Amino acid sequence: MSSLQPVRGTHDLLPEAMRRHRKVVDSSREVAALYGFHEMATPIFEFTEVFKRTLGDTSDIVTKEMYTFAMGSGKGSAKDEENATITLRPENTAGVARAFISGGLAQQVPLKVFYAGPMFRHERPQKGRQRQFHQIGVELIGVPQPLADVEVIACGAQILEVLGLKDAVTLELNTLGDPDSRAAYREALVAYFSAHVDALSEDSRERLTRNPLRILDSKDAGDRELVAGAPLFADYLNSESRDFFAEVLQGLDNLGIAYTLNPRLVRGLDYYCHTAFEFTTDRLGAQSAVMAGGRYDGLIKTMGGPQTPGVGWASGVERLAMLLEADIAAPRPIAVVPVGEAAQATALKVAQGLRHAGFVVELGYSGNLKKRLQRANKMNARAALLFGDEELAADSTTLRDLDSGEQELVPLNSLAERLSRLS
Ligand code: ATP
Ligand code: MG
Repeated sequence: MSSLQPVRGTHDLLPEAMRRHRKVVDSSREVAALYGFHEMATPIFEFTEVFKRTLGDTSDIVTKEMYTFAMGSGKGSAKDEENATITLRPENTAGVARAFISGGLAQQVPLKVFYAGPMFRHERPQKGRQRQFHQIGVELIGVPQPLADVEVIACGAQILEVLGLKDAVTLELNTLGDPDSRAAYREALVAYFSAHVDALSEDSRERLTRNPLRILDSKDAGDRELVAGAPLFADYLNSESRDFFAEVLQGLDNLGIAYTLNPRLVRGLDYYCHTAFEFTTDRLGAQSAVMAGGRYDGLIKTMGGPQTPGVGWASGVERLAMLLEADIAAPRPIAVVPVGEAAQATALKVAQGLRHAGFVVELGYSGNLKKRLQRANKMNARAALLFGDEELAADSTTLRDLDSGEQELVPLNSLAERLSRLS
């Protein structure tokens, strides 16, 4: 371990990577705004309870992946704070739900929010799996109708489309029914797996008592064989749940959004219900999920708030950025090249004026004309502005088009206009 390496599972976003990252975040924010999702942000850490209650004691995140710290005593901390622990957020739905409750936003439903930011999970780092990663997401809170599910999915699909990833992903969809259907299904699952308990993995035996639905997405080979023969949720849905799902499917059909039904797609916790979905890709190896979401009508109540339905999704920015095909070029600058001492002051002033007019301008800081032009080419400048004695005398600059190699003398007072005509 060297303290001068980034911590395992964390990465620097150097400018080139950052441009891809920005493209994902900015495009999704723009698309989300078209659906009426407004951006909000919650703190990067919360009291540990916020995540424990929402994610459940048996989830992978809570059992294995959280970064939790003693809050510690410090100037001005209250006694009860000192004893509490805080956790770096592993996801953002819990934070939004907490904000909904603590901010008294119940009067503001439907609440439609978009978020983007870093999340933290202590898991084994590999391609597409980091310890600090970033998510974008939306939450639509306060709408019980299936139309909300359709809109939330449609928004996600449009973001993927705008990013050019429509052909790279598949929408997988399932329903978890309402609480009654779920209880009936749970019973059937427990009966089935109990009859095969010897063949279950140790983890899944534990799940059998605490959270049997999660056996369905076990990655253990033996479990998977058993799961293949397990009862199907579809056979335990009551008519209300079937109707709800039918309306979601109809909405998606109506919008021409393609999907594949995946009866094994589950979310383990009791407050999830009805729609569960995931956009997956086969282009990232084992890390196939790029966007995952569903309906969580019981969540806010579980946290101690008023009964409030909700539906949303979260998506991994790094995974989306990896899928972007082309590199994203930085905007091409105009290179300002003074020749000789006398030209420095004018060149600097012209550069500043152009920046105020909205042009990207790079100053050659030192070196002779040849060196500075080489540097201008290296930074992929669109044009160079040369300032020598002749140009100074004529209140002009020599504009060299670095693509065509052509040169012309341009008066300073029409420079911005001339530059705006460069393609
Ligand atoms: P996975 O099955 O890959 O572990 P998950 O079920 O833990 O995913 P969610 O909690 O649903 O994922 O988070 C939503 C999205 O966030 C995922 O679909 C993925 O794109 C991204 N994501 C989750 N964990 C990581 C991570 N450790 N590094 C990078 N991206 C991640
Ligand atoms: Mg995970």
